[in-house]
Amino acid sequence: MPTALHPAADERDRAGEEARKKTIPCARCGGTNTTFRYFNHGDLRKDTHKCHDCNRAWVVGAKLR
Ligand SMILES: [Zn+2]
Repeated sequence: MPTALHPAADERDRAGEEARKKTIPCARCGGTNTTFRYFNHGDLRKDTHKCHDCNRAWVVGAKLR
């Protein structure tokens, strides 16, 4: 039985790339008219999506206030 080297981390990176390609429903209004963008250039941990329905942006994975 072969031992995989950190398959979870590899899948997480792949999932991150997929999230940047596909449309994510707005966390506030549920609209799908969203586009991916970075909130801060250079900080890749802050994946931000902008919703054109409610004109708000949110950080994916962060809790809404
Ligand atoms: Zn919205």
